[in-house]
Amino acid sequence: MFAKHVTPDISAYCHGELAPEASRHFAEHIISCAKCRGEFEEIKLGIKLAEQLPLVAAPQSLWTGIEAQLGTHRSSGLNRWSRQSRIAAIAAGLLVVGGLAVWWFWGPGSKNHLANRSWQVQSLNGAPLIGKKKIAAQAQLNVGDWLETDANSRAQIAVSSIGKVDIDENTRVRLLETAPTEHRLELARGKMSATIWAPPRLFFVDTPSAVAADLGCAYTLEVDDHGAGLLRVTTGWVALELKDRESMVPAGAACETRPGVGPGTPYFEDAPRSFRTALEAIDFEHDAAARAGALDVMLNQARARDTLTLWHLLARVEGEDRVRVYERIAALVPPPAGVTREGVLRLDQQMLDRWKDVLESSWFPGANIVPKVVAEGFWRVKNGVTRRLKQ
Ligand SMILES: [Zn+2]
Repeated sequence: MFAKHVTPDISAYCHGELAPEASRHFAEHIISCAKCRGEFEEIKLGIKLAEQLPLVAAPQSLWTGIEAQLGTHRSSGLNRWSRQSRIAAIAAGLLVVGGLAVWWFWGPGSKNHLANRSWQVQSLNGAPLIGKKKIAAQAQLNVGDWLETDANSRAQIAVSSIGKVDIDENTRVRLLETAPTEHRLELARGKMSATIWAPPRLFFVDTPSAVAADLGCAYTLEVDDHGAGLLRVTTGWVALELKDRESMVPAGAACETRPGVGPGTPYFEDAPRSFRTALEAIDFEHDAAARAGALDVMLNQARARDTLTLWHLLARVEGEDRVRVYERIAALVPPPAGVTREGVLRLDQQMLDRWKDVLESSWFPGANIVPKVVAEGFWRVKNGVTRRLKQ
């Protein structure tokens, strides 16, 4: 099935040396090929460790341990160096190893050299600002810089070699990080549209009430003046997260997010209006009576496709409400063999995942293979490379 693995390109990809087309091909392959993804994850981890090397000071206990080791060897007479010079030699060795790793990562041959940690910005309309400076046509957005548009200006950002982000009018964004293992933007206010062709979890957007993690996709994200957000996904998947609260939003679906609460429950945008209004009450309303009435409406109105919402709700409601949600999903799409009522009600993650696999076919009717492949790639990455692989 996979004519050519991309493992020889991992290093070039991580250094941002692949052309956009090759970079896109690499990402698509990584999403669907477990073998290459496994190697990519390992190398990514190695790079992350290398990134941290200069920041980590060796604890005193390490040196005490080395001194103790040297002390025991001294009596064997194998080494005539003084204790101090041997410690110095070992320390130098550690520094060389650390230095090599850092050089490999940030070295002069790398396009990710510290001096180049910026994104290219292009003005699409008017005169957007970087800091207090107006952009005429093109400019560099460095880590820490704010990019701001007014009512008459728009801009486009090239996100390293992995995608692009359009910045609408009246929007404020800041570049927080750009590195082979993580690209991160902050959206303080306004609206942006992202198109990303990267392996999952490489591109993030921080908002005041949630973090959007890209899983290979296209989406728009809006933040209003109160910090409330709306995510709408056009292709692939996006995860919206805040601490332990997480919403998985596929193509055709949307998800709201509020300060102090985090991400709400994802819903398909073609769901009935009454279903969506009721969901908003469940997610963000504090009044218990209002919430109870809302759950009635939702269960009544839910179509097979709306099991996306109901599946997420299982973990977000309790007691009798959870039983009712379970029963409604089971009536729409029965659980597969081995997935029991008891298991689902106690939120057994494996059973929830197995049911989700079956539910997904009703989320993407017409056997749309693209979101399916991306979704599976995502779930494998999210849950560990091996656990989710189909038997
Ligand atoms: Zn492969």
